[in-house]
Amino acid sequence: MPVAVMGEGVDTYKEKIMHRVMIHPASYTSCREAVDRAFELFPQNIAQKKVVIKPNVLRASTAQEHIVTNPALLRAVVEKVETLSPARIIVGDNPGLFSYGDNENSFEKTGLMAAAKGYYKNLGNTTQSLAFHPDFMPEVVVSKEIMDADIFISLPKFKTHGLTVMTGAVKNSYGILPGAQKARLHRIAGTPARFHEVIVEVFRLRVPDLFIMDAVVGMEGNGPSSPDLRHIGLILASDNAVAMDGVVARMMGLDPGALRFLQKAKAMGLGDFDSQMVQIHGQMQVLTDFKLPPLGGEAIAGNPMIQELMNNKTKVRPKADPEFCTACGACIDQCPVQALTMEETFPVVDANICITCFCCQEICPEKAMTLT
Ligand code: SF4
Ligand code: SF4
Repeated sequence: MPVAVMGEGVDTYKEKIMHRVMIHPASYTSCREAVDRAFELFPQNIAQKKVVIKPNVLRASTAQEHIVTNPALLRAVVEKVETLSPARIIVGDNPGLFSYGDNENSFEKTGLMAAAKGYYKNLGNTTQSLAFHPDFMPEVVVSKEIMDADIFISLPKFKTHGLTVMTGAVKNSYGILPGAQKARLHRIAGTPARFHEVIVEVFRLRVPDLFIMDAVVGMEGNGPSSPDLRHIGLILASDNAVAMDGVVARMMGLDPGALRFLQKAKAMGLGDFDSQMVQIHGQMQVLTDFKLPPLGGEAIAGNPMIQELMNNKTKVRPKADPEFCTACGACIDQCPVQALTMEETFPVVDANICITCFCCQEICPEKAMTLT
């Protein structure tokens, strides 16, 4: 898959092509079968190539919390790639926004370090600068290993997200940015609508070649670190992120055309979510009574709260639940605009400063930050 360069090359994606998305039944003990099928449907010319595999490692957490890609899927993909004679395998991600959940600790605690079978590398250690969209930043720093990869395999997780409604294949690429830059871009984006633009601009810097999604146990409700888990029993795969995320949106009961980041990705020629443009290998079912994030709503396109959120006029703000908050202060440290202060025993948000990025909700280890 070619690297998308600002202002050129992207039009080549605009040809009318039918994308394919695999939906395969799986458990964490049987996911190798689904991985084999994914490589059959989307063969990769891996022999003697440098292969980078990137799970979604949001932060240090246990595998049972299902905040990150499950180690069983990572191990199955690593073992599959090993059989295809790569010259080099690297497994890594850039967890976190600043310093919380440092890289090695996040991989160790989740079990992803063991699943990486010795191929783990801290992707934040070697970086390079790339031109970025001038409306946001003239250039960004990205993990060099990813830019140098011959084959880049992304392993997203089936989850909801307070800011982008769902997180999946496109959003997983936000992790090609190391550390503090993610928070800086949140701050520069300023509004949720502009953040949707940012994640597509980051995604197109190096479009992954293959996506294999952990949808064995997914997440609903107040994601991306919600306690509301949902057994789905599937592995999804595709070589196109927009098509895959479109299928995930439909499974969640959403109209993918109502999600701004998918609208933008489609408009940029990065793929299509239209059901007539996506061939499904397997069976797609809408998940009954799937719980969307607080701002999701059933008819998201016509949901005035979503429109308000997009325009940054919403009154919705994060609020710490004193019952669960341990006053650890992590949310205060991570807020990119210093909108949180500790008052007595829990943090309080200044609604006039808050840019509704929901990073505090994302990183709270106690899942105590709610959106109200
Ligand atoms: S809301 Fe969460 S991150 Fe913030 S102080 Fe409380 S426990 Fe820590
Ligand atoms: S308070 Fe939370 S949602 Fe508001 S800007 Fe800070 S991290 Fe983002």
